[in-house]
Amino acid sequence: MGTAELMLAGGFVGGTVVTAALLWFHERRTRRGLEDVSGRLRRAEARTHTLLRESHDVLAVVAADATITYLSPGAERVLGASATAYVGAPLPSLVHPDDRGRIAAALAAPVTGDEERRAEFRIRHRDGHWLLLEATVDDRRDDPSFEGLVVSCRDVSERRHAEAELCEAHERFRSAFEHAPIGMALVGLDGRFVRVNRALAQMLGRAEDQLAGASVLTLTHPEDHAAAHDGIGRVLGGDPSTRVEQRLVHVDGRPVWVAVTMSLVRDHMGGPRYLVAQVEDVTERRASGDRLAHQAIHDPLTGLPNRVRFVEQLHDALRHQSGGGRPAVLFVDLDHFQVVNDSLGHAAGDRLLVAVADRLRAATRPTDTLARFTGDEFTILCEGVPDEATAVELANRVSNAVAKPVTLVEGEVYVTASVGIALATGELETPEALLRNADVAMHHAKELGRARADVYDAHAHDRAIQHLRTGNELHRALERHELLMHYQPILSLETGRVSGFEALIRWQHPERGLVGPDEFVSRAEETGLVVPIGVFALEASCQQAVRWHQRGAPVTISVNLSPRQLAEPTLVDSVAAVLGHTGIDPRLVWLEITESTLMHDAESAVRTLSALRALGVHLSVDDFGTGYSSMTYLKRFPVESLKVDRSFIDGLGRDAEDSAICTAVVSLAHALGLRAVAEGVETPEQLAELRTLGCELAQGYLFGRPAPPDTWGARPDHQLAFGRR
Ligand code: C2E
Ligand code: CA
Ligand code: CA
Repeated sequence: MGTAELMLAGGFVGGTVVTAALLWFHERRTRRGLEDVSGRLRRAEARTHTLLRESHDVLAVVAADATITYLSPGAERVLGASATAYVGAPLPSLVHPDDRGRIAAALAAPVTGDEERRAEFRIRHRDGHWLLLEATVDDRRDDPSFEGLVVSCRDVSERRHAEAELCEAHERFRSAFEHAPIGMALVGLDGRFVRVNRALAQMLGRAEDQLAGASVLTLTHPEDHAAAHDGIGRVLGGDPSTRVEQRLVHVDGRPVWVAVTMSLVRDHMGGPRYLVAQVEDVTERRASGDRLAHQAIHDPLTGLPNRVRFVEQLHDALRHQSGGGRPAVLFVDLDHFQVVNDSLGHAAGDRLLVAVADRLRAATRPTDTLARFTGDEFTILCEGVPDEATAVELANRVSNAVAKPVTLVEGEVYVTASVGIALATGELETPEALLRNADVAMHHAKELGRARADVYDAHAHDRAIQHLRTGNELHRALERHELLMHYQPILSLETGRVSGFEALIRWQHPERGLVGPDEFVSRAEETGLVVPIGVFALEASCQQAVRWHQRGAPVTISVNLSPRQLAEPTLVDSVAAVLGHTGIDPRLVWLEITESTLMHDAESAVRTLSALRALGVHLSVDDFGTGYSSMTYLKRFPVESLKVDRSFIDGLGRDAEDSAICTAVVSLAHALGLRAVAEGVETPEQLAELRTLGCELAQGYLFGRPAPPDTWGARPDHQLAFGRR
């Protein structure tokens, strides 16, 4: 209730007493009220002072002439000096010279509407350093309590500093990101690029903005999706930094090998925000790594897988055999490769191997594994081979592919290959066993005359083992006089009488019994033992011929010479020596050399044959028709007879082709002034044909098998008369 109201109330009650009492009461209340008001004011003032002093803001009242008329006590805490020190000073004088214009403008500009006026300026702290204040200006010039501008200032030095640092850090990151020499990417949690740098874009042949927003997986090589996924999963799962090697895909489609190091960037609440990925192009390193790995399992000359790789593949093939067919191994060995190497040089040999590798590649299926095993040996692994016939077909294709002339700088070279085939048996087999079997079969193909294929069979293996054993035993055979000669008569078709014998070697083996030359001569040839064995054969044969001669039968003696013997530089001397100490008439001696041996190195054969001929012996070309004779050489060789190979005699009179060949060979012999000798004559029909052809001499089971000398009596030339049967 106000005082006036009380007075009215008193008057209404009526009476002076009431009024006086009311007046006293009123007066007392008024006094107490005044005391109350001033106390409250003081308290409020103290509170305001404290708030202003503690506030981080400084309030100033600036008069129209820019002098400071009031400064809040907070100034002390912000500026380091008491507020009174500043009162009366013009505000611009305290401000950094560069900011004075700005503050003056802020103070002078007219205020429009409710808009706040703000300005930032530097002011010096008591201790000399500059503070950055942010000021908000409130125009109170018309307010009598202020009569100026109320400027509220806040120290923003630290905040600005932090902002600048953040900005700088950000800029540093941006610059590092943009200009990093390796690829960088920010990847969102949705697996899309947020941002990529130039290096990464270049790595992929794309523009930077083309990549932003693109899904990482669509740029990842399909085979590496799992690896990429796994890497991202690990980072999100808390792995602080994860490294993955994977392929990305270049815009032109080629794979780019990269090493990706990823780390997680979190937001201020600690949640995952995005991934930062460093992407390093490691294609080169991978390529050189791949190269090394490639080199380890490939042959540098032909580029084919090498032995190591082949055995690995074979191993896998044997382990993972499926229902359809079996793995087969083809062992391909070039025939007489050494001859090319020795005569034309290693460079030519290398080129020949490369050419052969190309042919083999063309002759095999893409699913086959072709390898260069060693030197002139190649191996082929064929999987899913249904039967032996298919394997043989493959082998024939391979051997036909090789057997075509190869043109080298040095000229045309004719090579053939012997191929051995081994099919997995379906039992537990090792790669080594299968390879060994194919190798055995290959050697057998060589024994069968080279340039052909042969399939492994267990018997062949036994034979091969026998072959090896034979080598060791042959040494002893010579010393222990286990070798002997059998003689097969050669008849004159003119007289029907024996005109001579071919000496054919035999081995009286202590366990195996009488062993034929087919079982040991090739081994003797390989070991070189054929040279002393050949001397023995010549010597024994000449001694026998001398014996027959002494008994009045001047029969000729034909002795076989092997390729190795012909190549032996001591051949002529040792023949001369045997002639000398056996005392044989050299005109009774015929040396037989196969056609292929002669043509193998025809030029040196011409020399050797001439030297032999000069000793007085005669020379004969054996197995004629099986090799590839050059007419030029045939004319130059000082030979006097051609022995038509047994294989042609076989079909004589029955087979048109064989008959034609026999006719041609006999005519050829005659045209060259040579005598024709038919070997392997088994039937009277063959004999009749040969007589019609005018063949001079014949030999064969029809007349007699090779046998010990006594079989033929003391005067074989008289005792044995055939032809008029
Ligand atoms: P070759 O020089 O062609 O000897 C002829 C071969 O034909 C002999 O085989 C002989 O027994 C066989 N033969 C003769 N007539 C007939 C016939 O009517 N039908 C059939 N089916 N075969 C007949 P052999 O004695 O087994 O000799 C095989 C090869 O061993 C010889 O073939 C020769 O190349 C070689 N050889 C034999 N003795 C010697 C030798 O002392 N030194 C050398 N280096 N090689 C020899
Ligand atoms: Ca012969
Ligand atoms: Ca022969």
